Amino acid sequence: MARIANQVCKLCRREGVKLFLKGQRCFSEKCGVNRRNYPPGQHVRPKKGTDYGAQLREKQKCKRIYGVLERQFMNYFTLAQRQKGNTGDNLLVLLERRLDNVVLNLGLAFSRFDARQMVAHGHVYVNGKRLDISSYLVRPGDEIEVRGKEKLKKKATDAIEMNKGRPLPAWLEAAPTELKGKIVQLPKREDVSSEINEQLIIELCSK
Ligand code: SF4
Repeated sequence: MARIANQVCKLCRREGVKLFLKGQRCFSEKCGVNRRNYPPGQHVRPKKGTDYGAQLREKQKCKRIYGVLERQFMNYFTLAQRQKGNTGDNLLVLLERRLDNVVLNLGLAFSRFDARQMVAHGHVYVNGKRLDISSYLVRPGDEIEVRGKEKLKKKATDAIEMNKGRPLPAWLEAAPTELKGKIVQLPKREDVSSEINEQLIIELCSK
């Protein structure tokens, strides 16, 4: 499982945008980007922007949003290249289809880390079978369910309450009272809510 650093707010500050890695805190005034909107580090000097720098930052941002490490990200890129259609679109669609991302988008977890932990600890069932692989790529028709003890169910219910009002992507169907969801169709590029310039990533990864 890819590890997400403890001080995740630094990642957002490095990218200069909110990556929404901490759940409720990300929507509050305590958000690191709201409070200290400058890169982390003691002696921060403005750097000269280069094309390579912009491409690298975009790739790092994308990896951090989805919580994947370099090797796994490059595996997604290779897979996206082999698929028909636009490689950039394919790459983002593959990342969106990750099981931890689906649990988060269904509103069943507070943050991506939380969603990943739920999966890794065996609380997420796909089509009635326990599945503890966060990188599992969901398919249309898959039914996702959170099961566990009362404490876990309460946590998922609290997360649903917190996520109330956030739009549900069109490719998903949610049954919040049952802690369930369904994949209606494959996601499309326009379903990706994060601001990512995939073209810059493709330019870098294709070198
Ligand atoms: Fe990023 Fe959330 Fe921390 Fe804000 S609170 S800096 S969005 S992880």
